[in-house]
This record gives sequence, structure tokens and C-alpha cells, in this order.
Amino acid sequence: NEVLLEAEGLKKYFPVTKGLLISKVTGWIKAVDGVSFQVRAGETLGIVGESGCGKSTTAKMLLMLEEPTEGTIRYQGQRSSVQAVFQDPWSSLNPRMRVRDLIAEPMVINLNLSRREMQDRVTKLLGDVGLSNYHANLYPHEFSGGQRQRLAIARALSVEPRVIVLDEPVSALDVSIRAQIMNLLKDLQEEYNVSYLLIAHHLATVRYMCDWVAVMYLGQIVEFGPTKELFQNASHPYTKALMNAALPSHPDIEQEEMILTGEVPSPLNPPEGCRFHPRCPFVMERCSRDIPEVTELAPGHVVSCHLY
Ligand code: SF4
Ligand code: MG
Repeated sequence: NEVLLEAEGLKKYFPVTKGLLISKVTGWIKAVDGVSFQVRAGETLGIVGESGCGKSTTAKMLLMLEEPTEGTIRYQGQRSSVQAVFQDPWSSLNPRMRVRDLIAEPMVINLNLSRREMQDRVTKLLGDVGLSNYHANLYPHEFSGGQRQRLAIARALSVEPRVIVLDEPVSALDVSIRAQIMNLLKDLQEEYNVSYLLIAHHLATVRYMCDWVAVMYLGQIVEFGPTKELFQNASHPYTKALMNAALPSHPDIEQEEMILTGEVPSPLNPPEGCRFHPRCPFVMERCSRDIPEVTELAPGHVVSCHLY
């Protein structure tokens, strides 16, 4: 499929400074450190990892909310062809605006439509996300968390984007609502022919939603592949640890916690060699010294680890 969004060698370093009047840079937090991927037409790419792995910073760079320190992002089409849905709908919806205007706002900015056309589109979008025209005159605080996420999705879809960045879209919702929103997103993907880049820390979410999965650890992608292949033949010790942590004896996805041994090392001065080596049960002598290369295990399935 056609490549709609491409990130190449993406890096984001934040300076660590010392001193109040004359601040001196004493180090760099390497939040994202050389990440490359493609989002293709009609597909969903998931980026999964623990908090602090750089997945949200990656999303912010794609949305131009953060400037990359290095690397390139290429989009197919207009800037408005990439929209976003965030974890907390309150942070992305202005509480003093009516739903009608909130959904129409990206259209006002990006499209040249008449009032009538915009109204018609808002009506259609509300229906498509499982709400009705009645809801158009209400304010966001009058909705439940799940409904507000439906509104955020309608707003993102209003300009008919080609890609939507979904940053933890269901993490803040009750378990019972999560499946509804995930199914809605899947249905809308078909109807609007939109691609998703899904940022998540729940493996269950990416497994259900994604065609491709990238596993991130300390600013880097350590394993990448087609979802089914990756879940069947998880190869990187970090991916395996994530999967073991999501115990099958606890099918409730809320139970899914990332219980890994050892602390997540700081992205400030990350470990030498393989960044996972201080926590890896398979660590070898060379792991603390040499950076592992990318090895292809199966078509499209790649891993960065000295075991392969
Ligand atoms: Fe573990 Fe070594 Fe592989 Fe890193 S390279 S994941 S330390 S075995
Ligand atoms: Mg996050």
C-alpha cells in the first residue's frame, strides 16, 4: 500500500541544564533516538512500550507539537491530512465551546466549506460516531468519557485526514467502554479509509487494533513486525518480558501491567551497547559493549538483539 507517513532516523534530545542565570547544558535526555517507520494506506501501525520509552514524544513530533532534533518526517498530502486523538479528551476539547463548533473547528481552519456544508458534515460525523444531532448543542462536560472520545474522533475525522495519530485513545476509559471505542475506530477506518498510528502501553490494545507493531524501549524500536507474526514469535527479550507481564491468566486488560525486573534506566545517559542489557535475563558479555544490529527473522519481522 501507498506510504502516507514516513519517519526516518527520528531523534528528540532534551537538554539538561544547570545554573539559573547562565544555564549550562550538562547532558541530554535522549527521549527518541533514531526511530524509523512507515504508515501505509488503510493500515494501523502500533507503537507499544512502557511510559518513558519515547512513544508519546514520537507522536508529538509527527503532529508537529515537538521539533525533531534530527531526522525527517514525510507526509503524503496536506498538513491537515494528519489529525490526532489523545488519551484525555478534556485536554483536546475546549470546555466553553459547543460540540457543534468543536467538531467544525478543524474544518474552519483547513477547508473552504459553506456554513451549510459544515453543518451537514457535523450531523453526519455525529451519526458516524454513534451520537446524534441532538448532541451538537451540548458542551463537552455534559458527556461521559467514552462519549467525549467519540466527539474527539468526530473532530479528527472532520477534515477527512489520511492518518490519525491515536495517543493512548482508550487508556483513560473504563474497561467496558474500551472495546466499544476500539470497534468504532475499526469501523470508521473502513468507512473513511483512514490509517492509524496507535500509541499504547497495553499489548491487548495493539494486538486487537494493529496490522504492524513496533516495540519501543528507551527511545529506540527494538522489534518490529506484522502483528500476528510478532505475537506468535516474539523474539526480543524485552518484547517477551512485556508479553509475560501481560499474563494470560488475567484476561481482563486492566490487569495487564508491565512487571519487569529492574528499574527503567534513565534516557539521560542510557546504557551502553544494548540499552536493555541491565534488565535482560539473556545478557551476554558483548551486550554491554556492542550496539545490536537489525536482523530480519521473517518477512517484515525485524529485531535488534545479539541473540539473533
Ligand atoms: Fe538481551 Fe543482549 Fe539481546 Fe540486549 S542484545 S536484548 S542484552 S541478549
Ligand atoms: Mg503516553
